[in-house]
Amino acid sequence: MSNFRRAGILALSIIILGITPAHADKIKAIATISIIGDVVKNVAGDAVNLVVLVGPNGDAHEYEPIPADSVNIAQADIIFENGLHLEHWLDKLYLASGSKAKRIVVSQGVTPRIFEDNPQETDPHAWQDVTNVILYTQNVRDALIAIDPANKDKYTANASDYIQKLQSLDAWVKAQVALIPVDKRKLVTNHDALGYFARRYGFKIIGAVIPSATTEAADPSAKETADLLNIIKSNGVHAIFSENMANPKLAQTLSQEAGVQVGPELYTDALGPVGSEGETYLKMIKYNVGVFQKYLK
Ligand SMILES: [Zn+2]
Repeated sequence: MSNFRRAGILALSIIILGITPAHADKIKAIATISIIGDVVKNVAGDAVNLVVLVGPNGDAHEYEPIPADSVNIAQADIIFENGLHLEHWLDKLYLASGSKAKRIVVSQGVTPRIFEDNPQETDPHAWQDVTNVILYTQNVRDALIAIDPANKDKYTANASDYIQKLQSLDAWVKAQVALIPVDKRKLVTNHDALGYFARRYGFKIIGAVIPSATTEAADPSAKETADLLNIIKSNGVHAIFSENMANPKLAQTLSQEAGVQVGPELYTDALGPVGSEGETYLKMIKYNVGVFQKYLK
C-alpha cells in the first residue's frame, strides 16, 4: 500500500471516528424514579446516558410501564432502583425484557422505617431524610466506578461535591425546622410519605388521608376518615398537605370537613418538571420546608 493511500485510509478512519456519536460507548443507565435520576445525574454528569422511568410528578406506586421501558431496560447496563418495595412492578419488567443489566438498590444501608401497626409494610420513602440521600449517592458512585472504572476520578469528585451540598442541606433543614415551634410540627399528608422526614427532623405524623405508605391502597373508609378528622381537631393541626404526584381531591374534601386549610402540594415521591420549584432534589426539599414554615404556625 502506498504511503499516500495509507494516509488516506487513516484520514478516513479519523473522519469516521469523528462522526461516531460521542455517547456511543457511554454506560446506559436507568433510574426508576426522578429523585434517583437526579442523584445519578449529579454523580455521573454526562458520563452516562440516563433514562428515568417514572418522570416528574409521576407516581411510582401505581406506575404502569410503557413499551419503551422494556426496550430501555433490555439495552441498559445498569439500573438504579430505590428498593424497600417501592418498584413492585420492576421484577416482572426486568425478566420480560431479557435484560442483563446490573441492578443496584440505592437505599442499601438505610435504616428502614417499619410501621408499628403493620410490621410487614416497609416505608419506601427513605429519600425524605437528606442523610439517606447521602447513602444513595455513595451507592450510586460505587456502582458506577465498578462498572466504569475509567471514569473513577470523575465519579468520585462529583459524588464528593454533591455529598457536600447534601450535608449543607441537612444542616439547613435542621436550622429552619428549629424556627417552627415544636407543638406545631404536625403533618397530615395525602399518603404516608414523610415518615423519614419526620423521624430525622422532629415532626409528628398525625395521619394521612390515605392511611398507607402507598397510594395504591384503597380510599379510606368512612370510619378511617372520621377518626382522622378527630385526630386533626384534637391535635390542633393547621394545614393538610397534598402532594405533587397524588390526586388532591381527598385532601381537599377532608380539609373542608376539618375546617383547616390545604397547603400547597408538596414534592414527595417525585421531582417537579424542569423550571418548577421542585426541579431538583435540593430544591424540592427546600421548597417543602419553606411550605411548612409558612403553613405550620
Ligand atoms: Zn409514596
